[in-house]
Amino acid sequence: MKIFCIGRNYSEHAKELGNAVPENPVVFSKPDTALLRAGEDFYLPHFSNDVHHEIELVIKINKVGKNIQEKFARNYFSEIGLGVDFTARDLQAQLKAKGLPWELAKGFDGSAPIGNFISIENLDLSNINFGLKKNQEWVQQGNTRDMIFSFDKIISFISQYFTLKVGDLIYTGTPAGVGPVAIGDKLEGFIEDASMLSFEVK
Ligand code: ZN
Repeated sequence: MKIFCIGRNYSEHAKELGNAVPENPVVFSKPDTALLRAGEDFYLPHFSNDVHHEIELVIKINKVGKNIQEKFARNYFSEIGLGVDFTARDLQAQLKAKGLPWELAKGFDGSAPIGNFISIENLDLSNINFGLKKNQEWVQQGNTRDMIFSFDKIISFISQYFTLKVGDLIYTGTPAGVGPVAIGDKLEGFIEDASMLSFEVK
């Protein structure tokens, strides 16, 4: 399975990192060893002193597809979940300054915690509230109405370059409020009022 992520998909977040709002989705990927399943704790990597949480809605592909038209994209996923795109911000800054890929800063072991999935059947995909609490306090809150690129646009765009397969995951971008995590922090992610993801930083 593949894990894709979209960078800078909420303009308030793009701004907080000093990035321009992109013309096309910014796509990168993580290896499957980045996944952290429910019940597993996150261990801070030794090579960073500034690991940031990025809470993101995640769609799970349920049908093989290539060159998918935007108007048919909805047929390629039926469930949505919540994940964290952990980012070693200090390492990413060094790599960006040299014009190098983000892979090391974004794709390391455990950098993609993933929670439960729910059916999209009764959801208005253009109005989903989601967010992250750190030690019981809100640190990130977003709504899909603020996405620069919709789920359908993202699926269509990615599938022009990569064949999508059953089980592939797409992290669809983080709203503003990213920030560092420390040992002992308890993170809990929500879609509307439902707790979808929780783990501790070790
Ligand atoms: Zn992200």
